[in-house]
Amino acid sequence: MHDHPHGDSELDEMTARVRALETILVDKGLVDPAAVDAIIDTYENKVGPRNGAQVVARAWSDPAFAEALAQDATTAIASMGFEGRQGEHMVAVFNTETTHNLVVCTLCSCYPWPVLGLPPVWYKAPAYRARAVREPRAVLAEFGVTLPEDTAIRVWDSTAEVRYLVIPARPEGTEGLDEAALAELVTRDSMIGCGQAKSPVAS
Ligand code: FE
Repeated sequence: MHDHPHGDSELDEMTARVRALETILVDKGLVDPAAVDAIIDTYENKVGPRNGAQVVARAWSDPAFAEALAQDATTAIASMGFEGRQGEHMVAVFNTETTHNLVVCTLCSCYPWPVLGLPPVWYKAPAYRARAVREPRAVLAEFGVTLPEDTAIRVWDSTAEVRYLVIPARPEGTEGLDEAALAELVTRDSMIGCGQAKSPVAS
């Protein structure tokens, strides 16, 4: 068992409390719901995952950094300025030709905020949390990731103690690209393990 700060019932209660608070603030005209949505979108899709993308791009470009990341991800990531709550104990897991890594939190929604921002809604859904463990290959296929039969899938259960960052495989045809260009290829889903990094041709 891993130590979680909250279980399902408490998470649901917290969600309900947040919704109630948001409703009151909106009703009183104190916040604009569109502004709230924009902030959530920013942290779910833009600011957060772009940090992780920079970490991945550096790992692809700099073997010494990749080694440091493998040895102590928390320190390596902090050296790029990404640290804070929900990122205190990071572990980087590297996809290879023989192994694909997938991250889930089976009990709630543990997620590495400093490098990925806020978790997407599906990450918190009971179906994902259960099926990622039971039938990861089928779940990956639904995300559009079809792996060779002989590729092993390792599923990592995030906890309050440890948060995982998947380092996707570097796409082919990226030899000449610098870190900034490489980071553009790194999607949020590829760092959860539900996707692959984009091909430079496709993007
Ligand atoms: Fe959790």
